[in-house]
Amino acid sequence: MNKGASPEPSKGQSGIVRAALLGLCPRCSAKTLFEGPARVALTCAHCELDLGALERGGRLAGVLTAFLAIVLMLAAFGIEAAFRPPILLQAAFWAPFTMVTVIGALRLFKTALLYAAYEQSEVEAE
Ligand SMILES: [Zn+2]
Repeated sequence: MNKGASPEPSKGQSGIVRAALLGLCPRCSAKTLFEGPARVALTCAHCELDLGALERGGRLAGVLTAFLAIVLMLAAFGIEAAFRPPILLQAAFWAPFTMVTVIGALRLFKTALLYAAYEQSEVEAE
């Protein structure tokens, strides 16, 4: 085991959340990880790290999205049954809430996978 290969110490849970929010490249920490709201860029525009090769688990991202959709729908039905709010209020709340939740979860999920893959590739390169 060769420690100290990466310039920064191993990132914890909060590091992943921060990286997901800001879209930080795992190698150079530039804000180049995402080219769309929840789409990983093919390469880092700053250090040219091949992000496309590191991104795995695309099918799992679909499962995660479907799971989130079910959870959010159940929550919406629950609130509808319990409080009977006006339909416009429901729509005004759920549309942006769903988008933010799904995009946030996908970013977090993809960032965590990508950082794990990057650390793995660094270990294998030694
Ligand atoms: Zn980079």
